[in-house]
Amino acid sequence: MVEERLDSASRDAAIGPGVASLLRAIANDLKRNDEAADADLGLAPGTFADLVAGRRAVTWELIQRVSAVWPVSERDLLPVRDDCPLGVRVHRFESSLKSARIIERGGAPYYEYRDTAMSRLASYRPEWIRMLRTVDNDDPGNPAVAWNSGHLLYQFTFFVGPVNYYYEWGGTKRCVRMRTGDSIFGLPFAPHTFTARDDTEPAYILALTYGGHLTGDPQRELSALGPAAGDHLALSLSPEAGQAELLKGLLRGRMFTLPELSARCHLSVVELEAILAGHRQPSGQELAVLAEALDVAVRDLLLPAAGTVDGVAVQLAATARSWWYPAEDDRAFRVTQLARTAIHPHTTALTVDVLANDEPDHNSFQTYQHQYVYVLDGVGSARMSWEHAGRRHHETISGGDSAYVKPGVPVRFSRTGPGILRLLVLRIGGSVTTEVRSALGAMPAGGVERYLAESQLWYDPKGGAR
Ligand code: FE
Repeated sequence: MVEERLDSASRDAAIGPGVASLLRAIANDLKRNDEAADADLGLAPGTFADLVAGRRAVTWELIQRVSAVWPVSERDLLPVRDDCPLGVRVHRFESSLKSARIIERGGAPYYEYRDTAMSRLASYRPEWIRMLRTVDNDDPGNPAVAWNSGHLLYQFTFFVGPVNYYYEWGGTKRCVRMRTGDSIFGLPFAPHTFTARDDTEPAYILALTYGGHLTGDPQRELSALGPAAGDHLALSLSPEAGQAELLKGLLRGRMFTLPELSARCHLSVVELEAILAGHRQPSGQELAVLAEALDVAVRDLLLPAAGTVDGVAVQLAATARSWWYPAEDDRAFRVTQLARTAIHPHTTALTVDVLANDEPDHNSFQTYQHQYVYVLDGVGSARMSWEHAGRRHHETISGGDSAYVKPGVPVRFSRTGPGILRLLVLRIGGSVTTEVRSALGAMPAGGVERYLAESQLWYDPKGGAR
């Protein structure tokens, strides 16, 4: 009996909170009520109702059965494990030290890696990395320099000390001499490496890698669709060509001919041909009429400017913009812009000097983004406080500590002594994109709650009027 096996398995294989509402939402999507679900899944009558009500634990065996019978993947039924119930996870310097690993390249130590704050809720994989290979020149062909093969994750890197940064793009290897406060943003799969120019002073980086929207569902979907689909879907990085591909894709998707589009937007076929050939970019006015004709937002017709040269965006400390925050005459923080690129409009990298002695509400670091904070070696310590789920929390943080902050959590920093503490802040957008946010806003009252945790059938079995 399936039911008996479920009962015995449930003692040690329950999946955790959230799975019951995912199961209900999927059954609703497939228009299965409790009786139909029991029949489909070979469960004893009443079992599905118990599962979605949380009266019976959902087991791995049941998830496999659901995935075998219904057109869903196991992954669709697995809730995210929330490892940040207080809204913030603080990762202490001592714990970073304990995670230290020395990795050799070419038979000799090359890097010392230490973990810093991570969460299952965000795609950050931020490492503190010390360069153990010292070089006496800036030659990217130096045999002492051990290159990697590149990696999937985007990499924002903040430099401390005399670090050489090497990167390869289009078959050409380059080396840039970095100093404290310099930063770079690098594209996926571009080979790179780092060395120290001097072994008498600290030379390390904060390598803040993150998947952004590349990891998770898009990667899994494309793996299943295959390489030809990957080539078909990849848009050119050149703004003219990429925009033309985007527009052509929308036309094909809608089965519009050029005369049909022309009739809808009052641009001539000749003008449209020039735009679709990538010979010129449409003007703002033309974009507006094209968007209206295609029933999309203007932003759906636009691509970001590349923002990288040879695969990287470099921001040297010497030319970085700084400003006071929250205002010129309210100098709680000194903010400095680090490397950035329009490819990631929802990524923000900053250093923030904490000058505030108190924590007024308007000084909170509240943002729609996931937030990573690393306390750069500085003088003294800072107080970090935040509210989450109606409760106030606070921690004292100092050099080498790091933290992950959930989106929307108002976190505040103030100095606890005379010294100024410098924070490295990297904010990234999560899976809740602008499209998802606008869909949430379009839901009727109560819709967002049901989206987060569906608990009801999609209809009233008693058939009553609403
Ligand atoms: Fe890397």
